[in-house]
Amino acid sequence: MNVQEKLSELHQEGNYRSLTHLQHEGCYVFKEGKKYLNLSSNDYLGIASKIDLRNEFLSSLDIPSSGFSASASRLQTGSYPEYKLLEEKLRLLYHTESAIVFNSGYHANTGILPAMTDNKSLILADKLVHASIIDGIRLSSAKSIRYRHNDYQQLERLVHDHASCYEQIIIVTESIFSMDGDEADLPRLCQIKKRYPHVMLYVDEAHAFGIRGASGLGCAEENGCIADIDFLVGTFGKALASVGAFVVCSNLIRECLINRMRTFIFTTALPPINVSWSLFILEKLPHFSAQRKYVKTISQRLRRQLPRTAGSSHIVPMLIGGNDDCVRISQELAGYGFFASAIRPPTVPAGTARIRFSLSANIPENEIERLIQTLAKIQPL
Ligand code: PMP
Repeated sequence: MNVQEKLSELHQEGNYRSLTHLQHEGCYVFKEGKKYLNLSSNDYLGIASKIDLRNEFLSSLDIPSSGFSASASRLQTGSYPEYKLLEEKLRLLYHTESAIVFNSGYHANTGILPAMTDNKSLILADKLVHASIIDGIRLSSAKSIRYRHNDYQQLERLVHDHASCYEQIIIVTESIFSMDGDEADLPRLCQIKKRYPHVMLYVDEAHAFGIRGASGLGCAEENGCIADIDFLVGTFGKALASVGAFVVCSNLIRECLINRMRTFIFTTALPPINVSWSLFILEKLPHFSAQRKYVKTISQRLRRQLPRTAGSSHIVPMLIGGNDDCVRISQELAGYGFFASAIRPPTVPAGTARIRFSLSANIPENEIERLIQTLAKIQPL
């Protein structure tokens, strides 16, 4: 590969990326001394900037046994007691047989599908699933078909037509889609899968865990269908302001993952101190109802101004289309003190570049009003 040529191509397509170094203060970020409202964070509950929570956690720690590194993979000597506590808590909260923690959502999604399938399996995945799921599909030896986004009639046809040709079919979706902010119809998906004994359901709740459901367990909790989901994946790096991911599942699936999942087996486990922080926040999750309600309110307010957006979540996309236009609008917003990054291909399909506003409980209402007024100035709504 000619590296220089590849980079020039990216420049020409308006798709060149570079790192921005930011300082954080509550819902604001500072770049070269200028202050911006952070509209691109996944810290949906505003926990990442809560100093009182950090202090409470640190003062509860037993420093001599709180390692900053696991120094080995889980299967070697890295399975510290903190893991057992976190997995047990997840298991109890979700009322499932088992739970298992991974280093990240990326590790989870790239590892679970290859570990749980073979060439007698079929994966049916929504067209808009996250890159990590697509990579998991690519790494698996299963056959795969992508169905049109949230098109359950097409999905039903695919399941019906292929049911007798495969030993196992796994339907894969996100509950809240990361770049569109719309939701999957989980009860409908559960209905479809329950018609066949060998069809399983895999739901990535990365953007719903913490922020949806009466106690923050996600959209499956909200819809009362946790028990019907075979692989319910959540991540700790977003609303929970930590790092890592998990799947709640059956004992049999957990056992299979421990034995076959390469992104679990061949990597150093997360530091015990991070696992403890995840547990610390998880235990407090039911008490964040006011934040969940507030985020819903400001999301609805912003969505009313961007009427072409589907769904009802806290991820509110403003569809632009072309890459250059999208970057220009992102820069214009920056001029008004808003940090909202331009999302371009390959993160989203070509021609659908967008500004993705992701809202957090620590954004004051007057800032949302200021954003709405600014949007009216820079883009006809
Ligand atoms: N799933 C989805 C839907 C995501 O949006 C992301 C990351 N943005 C991930 C998985 C990966 O999670 P992590 O950041 O923990 O690797």
